[in-house]
Amino acid sequence: MSLMNRSRRVRINFASRVIKWGRQSAKRYPWRNTSDPYAILIAELMLRKTTRRQVEKVFVKFLRRFPDPCSLSRARVRDIRYEIRSLGLESVRARGLSKIAKVLMTKYEGRVPDDRESLLDLPHVGPYIANAVLCMAHDQQLPLVDTNTIRVVSRAFSIQSERKRDRTDPKMWTFVASLLPPRKARQFNLALLDLAPSLCLPNNPKCTECPVLGLCDYGRRSVQSMS
Ligand code: SF4
Repeated sequence: MSLMNRSRRVRINFASRVIKWGRQSAKRYPWRNTSDPYAILIAELMLRKTTRRQVEKVFVKFLRRFPDPCSLSRARVRDIRYEIRSLGLESVRARGLSKIAKVLMTKYEGRVPDDRESLLDLPHVGPYIANAVLCMAHDQQLPLVDTNTIRVVSRAFSIQSERKRDRTDPKMWTFVASLLPPRKARQFNLALLDLAPSLCLPNNPKCTECPVLGLCDYGRRSVQSMS
């Protein structure tokens, strides 16, 4: 099935239901209460390979100690490692954070760049993190595609990536981008990121509680098979 083989009306409806659900149910995390690109970049780097709950425990304290690229670039790696020790992979993460901070100081005068190309040029920054910074800090209309969002859209729209690592499939990025409602990418992305682990679970999704059930191929099939 073509990835774009859904009417615009269905996609608009899907996005608006997701956003409405997010208004009531989206989680509150400290990195969602800021538009500081440095704070958002740090959060996204921390969120790789660990849980939001783990990051929540260290994020605020980390920013108090290293509030900007300058302070982070001057910090000893062992001090950075100490602050993030509970996240796991702390040595690799600490070296990465230190390296990024140094690049921000030498190439960007201590600021996080606000264009995608420069962000992608930073060490350890891929399309997801670059889009997250631009969308959350600068309100740009960009999609966020990870295993969670892919699970929801794959089930709802019966789409499959042909790639083993579906997160790297440009078709998936294009399709999720086609769902973004004008000027509401931030709300949509955040709500979709929360809907997956709350309702669209890998096993036994809670379809009967889901706001997009009526638009979801998988959900409709699973509810029909129960009746
Ligand atoms: S209806 Fe079920 S399968 Fe579809 S998005 Fe919602 S929870 Fe996931």
